[in-house]
This record gives sequence, structure tokens and C-alpha cells, in this order.
Amino acid sequence: MGPSAPSSGNRRLFIAVRRGVPLGLAALLLIFSLLEPVSTRSFQGWMVLGAALLFGEAWPTFKRGRTYLKARPAIVRWDGGWVYALRPLFRRLGLEEAWILGFCDWNNLKVAEAFRERKARKALVLLPHCIQMARCKADVVTDLSTCYACGLCAVGDLLPLRLQQGWDVRLSNRSHKAYRDARAFGPDLIVAVSCSDRLLKGIVKLPEVPCYVIPLALPHGMCVDTSFSVPDLMTAMAGLVEPRTAPDGGRVLPLRQEGIA
Ligand code: SF4
Repeated sequence: MGPSAPSSGNRRLFIAVRRGVPLGLAALLLIFSLLEPVSTRSFQGWMVLGAALLFGEAWPTFKRGRTYLKARPAIVRWDGGWVYALRPLFRRLGLEEAWILGFCDWNNLKVAEAFRERKARKALVLLPHCIQMARCKADVVTDLSTCYACGLCAVGDLLPLRLQQGWDVRLSNRSHKAYRDARAFGPDLIVAVSCSDRLLKGIVKLPEVPCYVIPLALPHGMCVDTSFSVPDLMTAMAGLVEPRTAPDGGRVLPLRQEGIA
């Protein structure tokens, strides 16, 4: 079973721009260089050089698998530069979210390809604090097991998964704390859930760690009672991460209680 298929529409938008623009410009330069009259071919060399540089700009988008992973820090920084540089334009076009999610989807495709053969052995699941119900008092950021698994938010769904599958899960209320925890843990893969803006920042700020991302749904606005697809998370973990048996063999299940903490 592979991770959930990224949304191909957004991904196509991203790659059409990221790969299509330099390749299109390179092709134009080559055509102009061929059309330039022989008697006045003073710019031909420059145009061929420009085309070569533009091919070089698009080349990293073709890397796959382990080759991609090795070059990933530089690729992610460069791709992130494209996202930030063109973000104002896509905002004006009303496509800012699609543009950022396209980058995330493209990133997911590359990460999924890279881990198809050799799965991650030390994965870390990073979740935002706002998936917990705002009125719940359980201190799940400090200790996930303080959740009563009342069934009112996704945190309760994660408890049995963490116990049965042996997942390493962190909930965080600050991005910089999440980055610090992730660096301290030293994972070979991060599976992160967050809003599109934080996912973009996270991928670019931690380029050294491959990161598969799942966007949050924001039915009540930013940072309040958010939700995400737990099945998508399970599918991603099953496809990307080496199965691990929990120390207790997954027999211990959290107590389900009525109400919330
Ligand atoms: S006690 Fe209920 S509302 Fe609170 S974190 Fe757990 S599942 Fe969510």
C-alpha cells in the first residue's frame, strides 16, 4: 500500500511553472539562436549559454529516489525560492493556496518515490496543537497519554495508533519548538500535519529531513478546532515507514471515557 495520492491538479500547476518556465525559455532561446542570420550571429553563443543555464535550472526537478534524497536540501531551498518569489503573483490570481499546496504535493510525490524501496526506520509524526478541541483541558502537548480519548477530536484517534504501531508522535503549539524537537529526535522521515503556510515553512526550514505533509482542514478558521484525515496519515505511514511493533505488542489500549478532559 502506498501513501495517499497527492492532489494532482495543484501539483500540475506547480511543476508546470517550476519546470515548464525554464524549459520553455530555454527552447525559445535555442530557436532564436538558430534563426539569427549567419552574418549577425553575435548573440548566438550567449543565447546557447542562457539555454544551458535554464536547462540546469529545471534539471533538479527530474531527480528521483535516492539521488533526489541526496540533493534534497538544495532542491528544497531552490524550489522554496520559486514558491516565495511567485507567491504574490498567485495571490493576485486567487491561486495562492493552490500554488503552495502544489509545492507540497510535488514534495510528497518525490518523498514517496524515495521511500518506496527502502522505508523509513525512525519516522516522526508532527501534529499541531490546534487539532485538540479548544475547550479540552487535557495537557496533550506535554503528554499525549493525558488525552481521555473521548472521540471528540483526532487526538483520541492517534492514541491507539501510537500504542499499536509504535509511532513517535509530537504535538506542538509553536513551529520553532516543533523544529527543535524534530532536530533533537533525528528522524529519517517526518510526517507532518499543518496548515499550508506552516507546511511550506517547515519543508523549507528543515530541508535536511525528508518530510511528507498532510494539510489541515480549517472548518472554524485558523488554529481553532482544526481537523485532518487520520486515514491519510495511516496510509502515509503504511507506505513510507517500516512497520514497528510496540514494546507491549500493541495490546494496551487507552481507556475511552465519556466527555472531555
Ligand atoms: S480528551 Fe477528547 S477532546 Fe481532549 S484531546 Fe482527547 S480526544 Fe480530543
